Amino acid sequence: NRRLVLASRPTGAPSNDNFRLEQTDIPKPADGQVLLRTVFLSLDPYMRGRMSDAPSYAEPVAIDDVMVGGTVNRVVESKLEGFSAGDWVLSYTCGWQDYALSDGTMLINLGTGPTHPSLALGLLGMPGFTAYMGLLDIGAPKEGETLVVAAATGPVGATVGQIGKLKGCRVVGVAGGPEKCDFAVKELGFDTCIDHYADDFDQQLAAACGDGIDVYFENVGGKVFDGVLPLLNTKARIPVCGLVARYNATELPEGPDRLSLLMGTILTKRLKVQGFIIFDDYGYRYDEFYQQMSRWYADGKIKYREQVVDGLEQAPEAFAGMLEGKNFGKLVVRVGED
Ligand code: NDP
Repeated sequence: NRRLVLASRPTGAPSNDNFRLEQTDIPKPADGQVLLRTVFLSLDPYMRGRMSDAPSYAEPVAIDDVMVGGTVNRVVESKLEGFSAGDWVLSYTCGWQDYALSDGTMLINLGTGPTHPSLALGLLGMPGFTAYMGLLDIGAPKEGETLVVAAATGPVGATVGQIGKLKGCRVVGVAGGPEKCDFAVKELGFDTCIDHYADDFDQQLAAACGDGIDVYFENVGGKVFDGVLPLLNTKARIPVCGLVARYNATELPEGPDRLSLLMGTILTKRLKVQGFIIFDDYGYRYDEFYQQMSRWYADGKIKYREQVVDGLEQAPEAFAGMLEGKNFGKLVVRVGED
């Protein structure tokens, strides 16, 4: 059994040295347990927070513990009611390793033959759910409004923008580089997409948002937010989902203190700015999301792009790359055979 444990806490960007690959025996299930074999491991930005011991909404991973992560597994052996050998499952307790035991906690049975098992880690799982609830419940988009979303080709942003189109919004994406921007427009159906690496990013964004911004779905923070702030309309809504531009930051950004500008804009424009943590705040609405998103996907109304990296040992590098935008689509690691 190969497993990746947290060897040390990163300062700045995570590196391979923060992880250690270990070999252990494959455990044996006791009564009330199942033995799981990992097929896919999800890599997500929140994991950067779990590597750090700064105060957060969730406990950090302890040094020498297996890194946390959502996985899609097969049941190898079951001594737990409701699970049989061969079943596909979604687990939130197995993490970055080949084999793990589970007592059924945070374990969802996906049946014997899901058509696209790794969707449970993306469009039909945590990122898709995040896009759906954050946009519809907090963003409350209306027909004809302008919606802006960054990380536009990632699993959250791509889904936000496509739901925005289904709701009749004008959708402006922000992404890193021309290839991703092309994809957002041609494949995902966004009205336009701005490259945040462009020197004149602010001007391009302003030109693309001639009627101002009614919903800004915040995935990244940093200079994208700086460009968005002056364009926000009165009564604009900002679901604050993530701030990935600063997950590796070790200190506050340089420059003048703009807190009074931000608070003044919230006041005078009467903005709604609301953070959310998907399962904590909306877990009770998962079924509603799952039904609707499955239908949209089956009807071809929502598209989904995935990037699969081969081999558990590649996970640390792929994860670090994602925080810098090296992924293109939902990043998953293929850990083992079907
Ligand atoms: P992605 O696959 O989209 O990966 C992150 C992307 O962020 C990168 O690919 C990159 O895209 C972009 N990015 C990184 N640095 C910058 C930067 N400095 N400026 C602009 N863009 C940057 O991730 P997800 O779709 O999984 O997650 C998107 C966001 O949603 C994250 O902030 C995540 O933490 C958050 N999230 C929050 C949840 C919640 O419950 N609140 C639950 C799930 C996710 P590009 O190359 O296009 O710039």
